[in-house]
Amino acid sequence: MLRSMSQALGALLRPHTPAGLPAAHTQHRRVRLGAQEVAYEFKRGQRRSIGLSIGPDGLRVRAPSWTPLAEVEALLQAKSAWVLEKLQRAREHAAARAAARTVWADDAALLFLGQHVRLRLEPAQRFSPPRLQAALAAAQPATLCLGLAGCASALQIRHTTQAWLRQQAQSVFNDRLAYFAPLLQVHPRRLQLSNARTRWGSASADGSIRLNWRLIHLELPLIDYVVVHELCHLRHMNHSAPFWSLVASVLPDHAQRRQALRRAVLPPLDADV
Ligand SMILES: [Zn+2]
Repeated sequence: MLRSMSQALGALLRPHTPAGLPAAHTQHRRVRLGAQEVAYEFKRGQRRSIGLSIGPDGLRVRAPSWTPLAEVEALLQAKSAWVLEKLQRAREHAAARAAARTVWADDAALLFLGQHVRLRLEPAQRFSPPRLQAALAAAQPATLCLGLAGCASALQIRHTTQAWLRQQAQSVFNDRLAYFAPLLQVHPRRLQLSNARTRWGSASADGSIRLNWRLIHLELPLIDYVVVHELCHLRHMNHSAPFWSLVASVLPDHAQRRQALRRAVLPPLDADV
């Protein structure tokens, strides 16, 4: 199994929750860490140690009700490098997600196999993926003609585009499974597309492979890494040394691909928006 999309929440100290302590108010405080003034949400409550976490809303600090504020601030100073680095990463991640968001309208850009593709409604044209394939092969800016009326709603555009992306995912993933399976001497029985939020793929002992259709947004070398990873699980249902040497037998640079996959940013699912 391969997980990687969830945003990390770092907790320095494990929370503990003895019952019976009164719930406390949330305060919004600020602290100077190095050259930066950092806002944070502070709450005291039912726990025995101070906890720091970085989420989509920034830094959160939780402390036991008896901890002096000076102790909390001393911990923030001691951990300032960690806090500032995590905040910076969270900001970059949010900016990349915003940039990757698809606007469902004529002339909008979409990522397909790691390349930008332009959506065109062009009602006079029929739905025309061949032009896209040809353009991708020629490494030109590609166009996906959806053959929808100019007044099509964002929902229609999204449904038509995503249906096409899923078809492409099915076909590209099948090709790559067919290419790598004989090299790894495995026999996948069927491919299912998944829509999971936090998982790229999984493999079952019965030979079925599930791959996240949203991988089709990414470059082929990253898709290949997930395909190979799951195929190797058909021989090793773990992440043992023999598993990784099997992966390396067909993808010697698997570690770099894995790193790149960790950094990959997908367009947010519409439920995320
Ligand atoms: Zn795995």
